[in-house]
Amino acid sequence: MNSSDSKKMETLALLKPKQSLEAICELANLRDDPRDFLRFTERWPGFAGLWTQFYEPTSAEPMDVIRAMFYGVLYRRGSVRNIWRGGDNDRITAHLLPPVEDLAPNEVEKYREREKDGSAMAGRWSDQIVPNWRKGGFEYKPFTDFQQGLYLLVSNSRLAKVCANPDCPAPYFIAKKATQQYCSDGCAQQFQREWKRNWWAKRGKAWRANRKRLATRKPGRKDKQTTVDASRKKTKGGNN
Ligand SMILES: [Zn+2]
Repeated sequence: MNSSDSKKMETLALLKPKQSLEAICELANLRDDPRDFLRFTERWPGFAGLWTQFYEPTSAEPMDVIRAMFYGVLYRRGSVRNIWRGGDNDRITAHLLPPVEDLAPNEVEKYREREKDGSAMAGRWSDQIVPNWRKGGFEYKPFTDFQQGLYLLVSNSRLAKVCANPDCPAPYFIAKKATQQYCSDGCAQQFQREWKRNWWAKRGKAWRANRKRLATRKPGRKDKQTTVDASRKKTKGGNN
């Protein structure tokens, strides 16, 4: 392999699937804090695009800074969140089959490297949707890390969850089981505590009153209760 070939392989290489999903989770969970966006772009340049530094922010407000310096990342975060919550097919298509102007420079490079005949110059990229006649379907080929992340996210939609704890600081997660509702034990426990508190607030008074009533009941009633239970059992047995 000569040096230009090995350079080409390097450019074409995408993240491993597990890393892609990790990165897309991180993107969805980015807080409105420029420091978070900066860390993210440094860690996952393939997701961020490298065309992030555009203009001076109009103020030091976090969202102004983010819009000015990380607009591409912000836009993609919005897309991923919408997709994660089950909507917005238009944006998925726009990211998976993007017009050239929506690509970051490092992504354009990945596209160009894949061109065999330079057809991109005529405004048309290599086909990313290819028919598989043998399997009887079409396959999508991601060219960028971000596209791969999106593609895997949709492929794993059954496990792509939003944490049921409304105060969760990072609610977008890939679950281990489709029935999992909370991103972590911490969120599940918080919910249980809250549920108990609410239950006591709503029902505690009645429950305590009922317990008191049972405790002070006259012995005669208890006998009667036993008789009712016994007859119920009998009826139930009779139905079987
Ligand atoms: Zn959570």
